[in-house]
Amino acid sequence: MSTFSDFRLDHRLEKAVQVAGYEKPTPIQKRTIPIILKGKDLIGTAQTGTGKTAAFVLPLLHSLMNRPNGHHKTRALIIAPTRELAEQTNNEIRKLSKFCNIRSVTVYGGVGMDAQERGLRKGVEVVVACPGRLIDHIERGTADLSRIEILVLDEADRMLDMGFLPSIKTILKHLPVNRQTMLFSATIPDAMSQLTYVMKQPERIDIDLKAPAKTVAHALYPCPQHLKTSLLLTLLDGPDTTSVLVFTRTRRRADRLAQQIDRKGFKVTALHSDKTQNQRQRSLDDFRRGHYDILVATDIAARGLDIADVTHVINYDVPDTADTYIHRIGRTGRAEREGDAMTLVTDEDSLVVRDIERSLGTHIERRALNQFDYTKPAPAMTSVTKRPPQQSFRPRRGGHSRAARR
Ligand code: ADP
Ligand code: MG
Repeated sequence: MSTFSDFRLDHRLEKAVQVAGYEKPTPIQKRTIPIILKGKDLIGTAQTGTGKTAAFVLPLLHSLMNRPNGHHKTRALIIAPTRELAEQTNNEIRKLSKFCNIRSVTVYGGVGMDAQERGLRKGVEVVVACPGRLIDHIERGTADLSRIEILVLDEADRMLDMGFLPSIKTILKHLPVNRQTMLFSATIPDAMSQLTYVMKQPERIDIDLKAPAKTVAHALYPCPQHLKTSLLLTLLDGPDTTSVLVFTRTRRRADRLAQQIDRKGFKVTALHSDKTQNQRQRSLDDFRRGHYDILVATDIAARGLDIADVTHVINYDVPDTADTYIHRIGRTGRAEREGDAMTLVTDEDSLVVRDIERSLGTHIERRALNQFDYTKPAPAMTSVTKRPPQQSFRPRRGGHSRAARR
């Protein structure tokens, strides 16, 4: 199965998928949509950024339309851990229900109850909620969940991390037993079974949680904001990183990042418009000659420069536009090689990423590094620019001549 039309979704959904620019289903979508359409319970795991939202939103909307059931009763509930994720999910619902007469509302704390109450009263088919505030509404009698047909527990691993298990159990008591339940997650934590016991013989779909490297020219590396630098350093430790162009959004970030890379023992220089023309030219020439392995640059500085034949382009920050992406990637003369164009992406980057994918006419593979710890918490200190004590430096590519500190 390789196109959206294979799912035989309602034509209004097919049209919305087209408008959204989704050319073909992602692996998790391919595997889960047919199962969900059959009304089965399901546990789906796949890395962040692989399209899990549409994987449940599309069949959910299809089922609601195909089983008409009164007017604007709440029939589907999606539980999400944070308001950003609830909003993101609701945006996906809006986008995909563009041509359907289906209403949705988000429910989360930190904002007034009144607007949400009005939304719920007006009658909505789909509620996207964070657990705490949903319980408030249940207690006030403003959320009627007695007619829920479909329940989705999204980002289940994060909900468990955030301690939402008791709240979810409370919510479950207010739902009809006869319903379809789905659970989506990026990982499978040990505590997961405490959530899945409410499901009826769920099918399990796990998409390459530990994918072996595949040959692709473009790859996205989803990661939390605070781990970008350490993920970048891990990527730089990879094989053949002998001529790497790293892009950052601002001059300050370029300088700071170059310092951090330098501290790890790489030969690196920065190129941005704060530097004199002379300095810029020297950085560039030295990079071309192989004196530096890594050049950290901003778009403005790199524009119009001829830096052909770099082995890797790494977007430390996503480019602002799809055009800029294509422009940056054009710097690598060997784009056919594996993982040549790497882009670090955070949750906030999803809109630009979608534009880029649309421009390229393809879905870009999301990758995770097996050896990298994505769960490291953000540092408590705000000052990340401080140099750590001298004895803690250890060139990670020790023994390799290119790793020698200048
Ligand atoms: P996840 O929940 O797995 O982290 P999301 O559902 O947030 O991922 O999707 C990530 C991005 O991919 C979103 O910007 C979404 O619009 C986009 N997307 C989803 N499905 C497709 C598809 N089939 N083709 C292209 N882009 C897609
Ligand atoms: Mg998601």
